[in-house]
Amino acid sequence: MNIVKAISVLGSTGSIGTQTLQIAEEFPGHFRVVALSAGSNLSLLVQQIQRHQPEAVALADDSLLPELKERLGEVSSEEESFKLPNLFAGPEGLNTVASWDSAELVVTGIVGCAGLLPTLAAIKAGKDLALANKETLIAAGPVVIPELERTGSRLLPADSEHSAIFQCLQGTPWQENARLSTGVPTPGLRRIQLTASGGAFRDWSSEDLKNATIEDATSHPNWSMGRKITVDSATLMNKGLEVIEAHYLFGLDYDHIEIVIHPQSIIHSMIELADSSVLAQLGWPDMKLPILYCLSWPNRLETPWRRLSLAELGQLTFQSPDTKKYPCMQIAYSAGRAGGSMTAVLNAANEEAVSQFLQERIHFLDIPKLIEAACERHKSDHNIQPDLDEVLAVDKWSRMAVKEEVSRASNLIGKSDTAA
Ligand code: NAD
Ligand code: MG
Repeated sequence: MNIVKAISVLGSTGSIGTQTLQIAEEFPGHFRVVALSAGSNLSLLVQQIQRHQPEAVALADDSLLPELKERLGEVSSEEESFKLPNLFAGPEGLNTVASWDSAELVVTGIVGCAGLLPTLAAIKAGKDLALANKETLIAAGPVVIPELERTGSRLLPADSEHSAIFQCLQGTPWQENARLSTGVPTPGLRRIQLTASGGAFRDWSSEDLKNATIEDATSHPNWSMGRKITVDSATLMNKGLEVIEAHYLFGLDYDHIEIVIHPQSIIHSMIELADSSVLAQLGWPDMKLPILYCLSWPNRLETPWRRLSLAELGQLTFQSPDTKKYPCMQIAYSAGRAGGSMTAVLNAANEEAVSQFLQERIHFLDIPKLIEAACERHKSDHNIQPDLDEVLAVDKWSRMAVKEEVSRASNLIGKSDTAA
């Protein structure tokens, strides 16, 4: 692979974003960063702009734009070779960077449904996507998938489990149809086994979970990630969301997507094929590998990265997930099976419940109760073919439903002892 691929990085200051930029620095002959977008971390963003000199930069928080201009003005007066990027802000700014003309591939490292509109902007512009922002597919699979079909954009999974499945599929007859589409069953693929580390609380009892703190829930045993996804891993909602993500990416029905706990996070997921053969992809738990694969696909780049040694590891272990201790998985399966706008409710309720937990308004065990209550309330209205406006409306409604439930519970008991 000798060509230089131009990339745009959405959410450049986050865990996925910074790891993508590390890869770009490690392989300067292969990748060029042409556009960046970030939420509000100006100091890091300025450093990234200095280092990568992108053509375009967008800030989600437009009130910070004057400060960004001032800081870049200072850099420009100190460094002669520095070229000021085109600057944008707010939702339109994010869309501009997501569809930036010279970018060939867009890495979606924004967290939450906030990534939906920029992702759609990138797809409309026909860009290939390295999809980290799974919430976009969970909330709006029925909107995103037809748009991919229409524009021919390719969706390459950056999530480690889905990257593993994608990598295993490269050697199957499905290779012919290398464009990752779309809810269409993949020939030969019979079953997916998503591996799960078990999250921060895998060795805790259900009783102890009642007292889980923010600090406990935001420390992951194997992966270093943003706060929201680390809490999702602790509730195992992350795996539930990944089941739905796998459904939209690879077209299998929910009866053929399973979860297996694998504490070492070495096998990143497995596929079973028509002839009963099972293929797995292995590696150390390091997101740089699935991100690199998105960037270099269909090629492989030589890396100096640490090689896997099974003898050093000694053993790999597996167990069935405990659905009583972790109700989020079943809640996600039910929402996935209901389909349509129900997964948008699930996703938004989860985002809001996690946010309430991180603001210390609810207990850890309230998270699944609040999500289930929102899904239950939505049952009679749920539409299996929602359009974008409906997805956005349902997303807003679901966040409100969770907030209402939290304030109702805290009014009832004077403090948020139990939210739902
Ligand atoms: P993070 O919190 O570390 O970073 C999020 C990025 O998005 C930051 O740059 C932030 O500034 C930006 N952002 C936040 N809110 C925004 C908004 N409203 N508008 C625009 N930008 C906004 O999160 P992360 O861990 O990097 O996760 C990013 C996405 O990747 C998530 O969807 C997550 O599920 C997925 N993912 C992450 C990992 C991982 O290892 N971190 C693994 C698999 C999938
Ligand atoms: Mg994952």
